[in-house]
Amino acid sequence: MFELPKLPYAQDALEPYISAKTIEFHYGKHHQGYVNNVNKLIPGTEFENADLETIIMKAEGGIFNNGAQVWNHTFYFFGLSPDPKTTPGGKLAEAINRDFGSLDAFKEQFATAAATLFGSGWAWLVVNAEGKLEIVKTSNAANPMRDGLKPLLTCDVWEHAYYLDVQNKRPDYVQNFWKVLDWAVVEERF
Ligand code: MN
Repeated sequence: MFELPKLPYAQDALEPYISAKTIEFHYGKHHQGYVNNVNKLIPGTEFENADLETIIMKAEGGIFNNGAQVWNHTFYFFGLSPDPKTTPGGKLAEAINRDFGSLDAFKEQFATAAATLFGSGWAWLVVNAEGKLEIVKTSNAANPMRDGLKPLLTCDVWEHAYYLDVQNKRPDYVQNFWKVLDWAVVEERF
């Protein structure tokens, strides 16, 4: 059975950028809900003992949706920190400069992708099969690993991620997201 991973920060630690109320609902209700749902759906199926990566690569329907959402949310929440490294360094910084021109150019393109994703989904920074960085958008629970891409960071743009804090202003949420994104975690994943 899957468990909700404990966050490495307090629920109010990301304020004023992401409120305790948002973490209480987004992590405590939505993320927990996906964990509960996938645990209810897998018994008696081929995914009963599968890990989340296998579910992401092979499952369909409710098992895929809930299993991928567990993974996506864990990846999202663990990329955030109340004391983040505010810019990438080393090889990741070099790759961002090579593939986007500059960190600012990357952030602008990523923010546009997040803002223009229609409906619910996720904006991602990924590494493709050729080792090049790309920005991709996925709908609903979809995860880029299914397309052979390696995720480095993600921004949840489902309305439940920001509506309590900024209502319909998704671009404001993305600007707040940069303030708590920990580039040290992204470097580690790269
Ligand atoms: Mn979410």
